[in-house]
Amino acid sequence: MERFEKPFTQQEPIPEEGIARAMEILQNGRLHRYNVVEGETAEATLLEEDYAAYQGAKYCVAVTSGGQAMQISLRAAGCKPGDKVLTNAYTLAPVPGAIHAVGGVPVLIEIDQNWHIDLDHLAAQASASGAKFLMLSLMRGHIPDMERITRICQDHGITMIEDCAHTMGASWHGTRSGNFGKAACFSTQTYKHMNSGEGGLITTDDAELAARAVITSGSYMLYGAHGARPDEATFERIKLDAPNCSARLDNLRAALIRSQLPHLDDQIARWNDRYRALGAGLRDIPQLSLPKRAQHEAYVGSSIQFHAHVPDIPAFMADCAARGVDIKWFGADTPKAFTSRYDSWEYLGPQPDLKQTKSVLATTCDMRVPLTFSVEDCQKITRIIGDVIGS
Ligand SMILES: *Cc1c(COP(=O)(O)O)cnc(C)c1O
Repeated sequence: MERFEKPFTQQEPIPEEGIARAMEILQNGRLHRYNVVEGETAEATLLEEDYAAYQGAKYCVAVTSGGQAMQISLRAAGCKPGDKVLTNAYTLAPVPGAIHAVGGVPVLIEIDQNWHIDLDHLAAQASASGAKFLMLSLMRGHIPDMERITRICQDHGITMIEDCAHTMGASWHGTRSGNFGKAACFSTQTYKHMNSGEGGLITTDDAELAARAVITSGSYMLYGAHGARPDEATFERIKLDAPNCSARLDNLRAALIRSQLPHLDDQIARWNDRYRALGAGLRDIPQLSLPKRAQHEAYVGSSIQFHAHVPDIPAFMADCAARGVDIKWFGADTPKAFTSRYDSWEYLGPQPDLKQTKSVLATTCDMRVPLTFSVEDCQKITRIIGDVIGS
């Protein structure tokens, strides 16, 4: 009987250049982003310049996590306690957490069969709720019809912030994911597309939002040391009107991220080779279904989702796990590890019964695709899953 032996949580090593730069920083001790000697530009500042250029955004702010990127962006966009924030009912827990942390009140929107935010429900709630913010989570990298979302937001005067934790490097109709809304939030936590353990990035073309984000990230009055930042006059206008929420990225992590950025597009191609191998194998199994992805979407296959039409999903997962294949399920009544369903976010208070989301999640299985797997590994994984289902 075939068994898969590799761990689903093992990432690749940091590139040699990143390790070398990290060693230099450890040796000179200047880990704090504002701790530089004359003539030196901090690694965090260089990262902001590099990432803004990669993203095609005017401004970039490096922060400690994707969750902090979302909190800071919301705050910098003007979200105040009590403001409603539209967001996907299917996402990871840091998303409602970030909205809650700034005092926002999430208005959860259904998802469709393809794990996108449901655009009809979004349009209906955009007008019914009166919300002025949308935290669009591009959960697991599935990009919805961005033209329609942009129109809905324009029609209702809604400020959109994109959670691009799973779409770093992806695009829709040739526009990079993250360049549709007012700001975009990225994560460089270990399981995302670049790995610094923890870390986050905000990008925007809006000078005032960027300046507020810099101050709120914890710049004190050292904002002049930031990369890809707005001009002095913008800071002058807002600098006393933005709280310091202390979420700066340090130079060590910035060095790790910078060393990975030049390889990101190659890594994306490698992810998609693996994703396609998994997709082809899984589509051959009659009890599983994988929706076709939209032609306009250049996605990053760093994880794969499929619907399992089997009588007992926990038993199916246990049988796969016994053969080394680690599948997650978003339909469980109680949250496990990284997965949780919206009705377990009890701190939000009572939520509507989102039947469509629950029904989609009831069959939603999820698998991580680490780059330490080869294409052959992916084929082996689908053989095992086919075997488990067939037996
Ligand atoms: C990981 C993740 C986040 C949060 O990123 P952290 O860096 O872990 O705070 C936000 N949204 C989604 C969809 C994520 O997967």
